Parts: sequence; C-alpha cells; structure tokens
Amino acid sequence: MEKFCPECLQKQKFKKIKDEIIHEVKNESFTNEIKKIICEKCGEEIIEDEEFDKSLLMAFNKYREKYNLLFPSKIKSIRKKYDLSQRDFADIIGCSVATINRYENGALQDNVHDHLIRLIDNPENMDAIIKKNKDKIKTKTIKKMKKKLSELIKESKKSKLKSTYIEFLQDFEERFTGFKKFNIEKMANVIVFFTGEIPNLPKSKLLKLIWYSEFVNFKRTSLSICGTPFQHYKYGPVPLRFKHLLAIIEEDLNAITHEEIFHPYMGEVFKANIEFDKSLFSEEEIETLNLVYNQFKDYTASEICARSHDEKGYRETNHEDLIPYDYADAISI
Ligand SMILES: [Zn+2]
Repeated sequence: MEKFCPECLQKQKFKKIKDEIIHEVKNESFTNEIKKIICEKCGEEIIEDEEFDKSLLMAFNKYREKYNLLFPSKIKSIRKKYDLSQRDFADIIGCSVATINRYENGALQDNVHDHLIRLIDNPENMDAIIKKNKDKIKTKTIKKMKKKLSELIKESKKSKLKSTYIEFLQDFEERFTGFKKFNIEKMANVIVFFTGEIPNLPKSKLLKLIWYSEFVNFKRTSLSICGTPFQHYKYGPVPLRFKHLLAIIEEDLNAITHEEIFHPYMGEVFKANIEFDKSLFSEEEIETLNLVYNQFKDYTASEICARSHDEKGYRETNHEDLIPYDYADAISI
C-alpha cells in the first residue's frame, strides 16, 4: 500500500502490522490489540483514526463491564422507551443535549449520570424525577410524559399481576390441578375458543365452560388441559381467583374484551380478540373442547349454572372449597 509518510515527507510503501495499544480510562489502563501501518523505508508507525476510535470505544466498554455501567445502546433504549428526543432527555437528566448525544455514540458517561439514567429506567422513578425537575423541563414534555408514564406504570403492574397469579398457582397439589402445571397461554386459548364460537358469551357461562372442559378432559384422559384449580362458588364451580385470571387474559394478553350489558339481563359478556391457536392443544384436548361446546352451546347462563350445581363435585363440596379432579369421573358428560 502506498501512502504519504509524514516522516519521509513523500509517498512510501506501507505494510500492515498488528500491535498493542494502551488506553487510559479514568486512571486505569486497558490494553487492546490494534492494526497499524508502518513505513517500509523509515519505520514510521501510523494508527488510522478509524482504528483508534474503534479501540477507544472498546476500552470504554471494558471499563463499563468492569464497573457495571450502562452501555450506549441501553442509554438510547431507555430514552426511546419514553419516546423522548435527546433534547428532552437531556433536560430531564439536567445535562446538555451534546452530552446525551456523546453518550449514545459511545463516550463514557459520568457516574452520576449513569446512576440517574439507570434509576429512570423505572417509570415510577422517572415520574419522581420529572416532578423534582419540572422547572427545567418544557411544559409540553411534562404533559406528554404524564400520559406515557401512566401507560408504562399500568403496564408494569399488569405484568406483575400475571407473574403473581402464575406463581400462586404453582403450589397446588396435583389432585387440584389435574396433574398439569398451570398454563396461562392455553387457558387464554380455551377462553378464546369459547368466546370465538359463542357470540356475547356471558361470564358465568364462560366460567362453567372452563370447568367442564378441564374436568371432562380429565375424565377422558386423566389429565386436565391447563392445570386450573377450581373452587366451589355460589353460582357453581369457578377457576380459582377467576377475576384475576380474566383481567390478565383481557388486559395483559389482550385475548378477549369484556362489555357490560343491560339487556336481556345485566352482566358481563366476552368477545375474542385473537384467533384460537390450535397448535397449543393435543387432538384429544380439541375433541374435549368441541364436546363441551356442542353440549352447552344452546344453554343459557342460568341453565348451565343449574346443571353444574347438580354435579357431584359441586354437591359434595362447600362454599370456597377447592374441588378435586377426583370428581371428574362422576361428571354428567
Ligand atoms: Zn517513512
């Protein structure tokens, strides 16, 4: 390769070599391998700018790893999570827009900024910081953030709701879960199956259809479909903590929508938002769902409730008792 040599002051032949370079980052040394070119005539070594910059960023990243600092991509993704411009993000942090721009492009961040950015990754902390720095932030940004934050905070509460529910259901004896671990995806799809087949499905009918599906499948195969525990409730058997369950499937998984109706009766009805995912189920389970659907498609909510009250598993348990799957054998389907 021919290049101008600043030592010989004329064009010379250069060859590529590999060498080591030491970067000082905040009084610490980091050694990297680096590509150089060397003048074949005088031995002058040159590191090209691009190579040097790459190596420096690598040294910064080694420092970040060692001291557990945020990486540039993470800083950017925190800002993007709130749909903020670099300018607005800088106002919230209390630094210049150039600083944020440098951080996102690899410059090593100040420890105080690192700590602050890490904190505001949590929407509740972001909310607190905005309130504290409100004089330094544009009113328009504060308004926009208020909306965004309430969405994000709601979102994080929902996912907490889901994990507490699933965790709660992991601890039940197998005779109450039909020898399966509770599976929320499958449960959502059982609900989508029935809400898809039956328009404006009333809540009390839906809860009974879930019970019959799980118990009929257990009767046929000695396993439930989703591992749901059921409880003796005043209108019949219902999935344990069913309000919690329906809220997760509606709000968190967005699989169904509920509506309050006043005619011909007062109550909640459900509609499916997504397509039923058949691939989650075995052939036998699909058969069970169809069996239960065909049996009850024309029943009103009160008819299916009355029928469930006659089942042995309901008759022989008391209010709020768990209903063991042992009773599945006696089910009237
Ligand atoms: Zn030279």
